[in-house]
Amino acid sequence: MCTRTMNITDRAAPGEPVYTSDRPAIGTYEEARPRRPHEQAVRRRGRGERRLSVTDLAYATDLLGQEGLVLGNVVPNFMCRIPLAKHGTEEQKKSILPATASGEAAFSFAITEPDAGTNTFKIRTTAIKQDDGTYLLNGTKHFITGFTHSTHCLVIARTQPYDEADRTKGLTVFLLDPHADGISATQMDIGIYLPEKNWVVSFDNVRLSANSVLGEDGSGLGVMFDCLNPERMLVTAANIGQADYVLKKAADYARVRAPFDTPIGAYQSVQHPLAIAKVNVEAARALLYKATAIFDEGNEVGLDANMAKYLSSTAYAQATNAAAMVFGGGFADMEQDLIPFYLQAKLSEVAPVNNNIVLSHIAQNALKLPKSY
Ligand SMILES: Cc1cc2nc3c(=O)[nH]c(=O)nc-3n(C[C@H](O)[C@H](O)[C@H](O)COP(=O)(O)OP(=O)(O)OC[C@H]3O[C@@H](n4cnc5c(N)ncnc54)[C@H](O)[C@@H]3O)c2cc1C
Repeated sequence: MCTRTMNITDRAAPGEPVYTSDRPAIGTYEEARPRRPHEQAVRRRGRGERRLSVTDLAYATDLLGQEGLVLGNVVPNFMCRIPLAKHGTEEQKKSILPATASGEAAFSFAITEPDAGTNTFKIRTTAIKQDDGTYLLNGTKHFITGFTHSTHCLVIARTQPYDEADRTKGLTVFLLDPHADGISATQMDIGIYLPEKNWVVSFDNVRLSANSVLGEDGSGLGVMFDCLNPERMLVTAANIGQADYVLKKAADYARVRAPFDTPIGAYQSVQHPLAIAKVNVEAARALLYKATAIFDEGNEVGLDANMAKYLSSTAYAQATNAAAMVFGGGFADMEQDLIPFYLQAKLSEVAPVNNNIVLSHIAQNALKLPKSY
């Protein structure tokens, strides 16, 4: 660790000490340099602070991606803990939060339906309140990642019928036991290579207790976005981590592959697409940690989370496209382990929220253009 004294306005070659004779030193370089997310977390813990930080979760997800680990369930497991921490009962928090942090328990998240993906307001799954205060859940969700392995699921249902005059009313978030009576799950045939599978999940008169409502009955939109915005940030973290992994793989290959005796990595037409992707990955990373800091401070993060998600998915797609050109025909060789990332990058442009609607959200909120959806 470097502990030399320097004035942070001075510049030195890496490893060179910088002293100023005419101005007082204002701190050590170690003190002055910007902190990386994990270091901020370590500092907070050093000060005895123990709070749920999306910056920490995003950093962990980023690092997993950089090692080429595509762990689908990391995202729902992390994101679902946030509304629980905000809206759960003390008993729910004590029994679920430590276990989902240690890995003994895991969350899944169920919002998407065969006829309602981007347009959540149109979901048809209902949870009808009974005289005894319990609810009966009926409907079908699909694409639910890791459902059968999860011990808890956040499910979104209508507790009031759809009303065009106020589309946001009547949505409720429930904490569900994925193994309760009345639930059936069928594995989907998804062409990507995730350890967690995706499921079509059907609810047939599943009984939910009154205290399984997170937040308030009929006002679940805010609760939903307590985890949908973190989802966008965590997916961004996975995108940039995995993009870096792919870029490193491509650069390693480009340094040695030499069909005309010169390594292909020396050609500008090979270098530039990789470099452009790297620039965008780093820009997305900067946007991501700006967004997580905003969220961790308790501020509105929708716009920043969407911008980060958009840029990370386009950067990831650029990285896998550039890598495909580097590997030539080898790109199709499953031994090279590139196809899974290529598909994952394409999916990152459409899920968990498609980039068209992300751009519409940015146009509306950053540029004050009319709402288009
Ligand atoms: C690998 C994977 C894992 C998933 N895991 C989960 C999960 O755990 N839980 C869960 O609930 N869901 C999950 N999903 C579902 C995912 O969230 C949806 O696929 C996504 O929200 C898009 O919905 P959709 O597929 O119904 O697309 P649609 O809503 O049918 O949209 C199709 C296309 O139409 C265009 N489009 C739609 N609306 C607009 C608009 N307003 N303006 C412009 N263009 C538009 C876009 O190009 C979009 O891609 C997962 C999906 C995948 C692929």
